[in-house]
Amino acid sequence: MTESQSNAAADPFAAGKPKRLPAPNSDFYEVYETLPAEEFATVKRVRAFLETKIAPVITDYWVNDAFPFELLPAVKVLGIGGLGMHGYGCAGGSVALAGFVQMELARIDPSFATFIGVHNGLAMGSIYIDGSEQQKQKWLPPMAQFEKVGCFGLTEPLVGSGTSGGMLTTAKREGDGWVLNGEKRWIGNAPWCDISIIWARDVADNQVKGFIVENKATPGFSVEKIQNKIALKVVQNGHITLKGVRVPEANRLQGGNSFRDTARVLKMTRYAVAWMATGCAMGAYETALEYAQERLQFGKPIASFQLVQDLLAKMIANITASQCLITRQAQLHAEGKLTDAHAALAKAFTTAKCRETVAWARELLGGNGIVADYKAARFFADAEALYSYEGTYQMQNLIVGRAITGLAAFV
Ligand SMILES: Cc1cc2nc3c(=O)[nH]c(=O)nc-3n(C[C@H](O)[C@H](O)[C@H](O)COP(=O)(O)OP(=O)(O)OC[C@H]3O[C@@H](n4cnc5c(N)ncnc54)[C@H](O)[C@@H]3O)c2cc1C
Repeated sequence: MTESQSNAAADPFAAGKPKRLPAPNSDFYEVYETLPAEEFATVKRVRAFLETKIAPVITDYWVNDAFPFELLPAVKVLGIGGLGMHGYGCAGGSVALAGFVQMELARIDPSFATFIGVHNGLAMGSIYIDGSEQQKQKWLPPMAQFEKVGCFGLTEPLVGSGTSGGMLTTAKREGDGWVLNGEKRWIGNAPWCDISIIWARDVADNQVKGFIVENKATPGFSVEKIQNKIALKVVQNGHITLKGVRVPEANRLQGGNSFRDTARVLKMTRYAVAWMATGCAMGAYETALEYAQERLQFGKPIASFQLVQDLLAKMIANITASQCLITRQAQLHAEGKLTDAHAALAKAFTTAKCRETVAWARELLGGNGIVADYKAARFFADAEALYSYEGTYQMQNLIVGRAITGLAAFV
């Protein structure tokens, strides 16, 4: 074969007849194969639901700052309420399965993944981890069925990263109950959900405690939707005001007696956000690769250019590194060895790599990369919120820094 013949054979477009190019696949190291067959089948079922029901409509909701309430009945039958939690009507399964499903959700839409993450991880997780047996029996079954949807109120307008020591919302014991006063900001699902986990500082002992508030039926509890967000626009975030909100002692999380107990919940949700950040990067990469295979410039698909392949290779490397890290994170979790620092490192690393990856994806779409219809822009914007919520990049690295140096550097 001559050199030019050999070049023609290597170039699928040289003969004027394109050959079939490989479909975008963000599972380069076959990490999905680490799941047992039954759990892999669940992931495939979730992927089919997301690709047929969520993907076709979600960009419109995102652009319009709206939540797809009409899809909730289908979500209820999907059977993912309380994944990774056992008993109390929860979906069960391994912590790896819970992670893979969060990754799948974010691969299609990080907002929808966040809605599920707030409900399953933050709200149900608080009751599962810090609730008494009675509280779990009462609240978890309807939540696992999405009959009651939850939110988690920790952050405040004036106190974000510093909630462990500086929380301003107060809880005061009065008779057989408690009175809550204060404000919470950024609370996902709050404008429409049924149950709020509210964290407040007990004025008697200065410790942070958790309360289950039936927000729609509790006087003094009001929520305003946060407007004009540029990320995770499908999630409805609320600014909550608590004015003399009365909560019975039966609704105080019986195992939530200090910020250490709040942190036990945050460890689990940071574990999950690492999966979501990886899913967000996967969605962006697949979008960019598909585009690059189809978009012609200089008479050739842009995917055939060396500089474009360099970006695509760096993207799949980021994703593969993140996937391997979180798969190991799942093993540590399953063995009961996951520490705050493990979860913090995974959250920080994957969100940083996600941010880098979605920016490259947006770049590869050129001008179309800033139009929501092409999906890359949605992943690009959403990555910013994943990077900052559940504790910012800096806070995660301070947790890791404390673990590896033995010295706390928060203040
Ligand atoms: C879309 C979205 C959804 C959210 N959902 C929820 C929810 O459902 N429930 C909830 O309770 N909260 C929620 N949050 C809040 C989120 O957890 C906070 O935004 C986050 O913890 C950071 O707090 P902050 O925004 O007040 O930033 P700040 O704490 O004011 O931080 C601002 C900057 O200063 C840096 N910084 C702060 N302290 C230090 C330090 N000691 N050293 C170095 N740097 C520091 C931070 O890293 C950051 O870069 C959500 C946020 C967003 C954006």
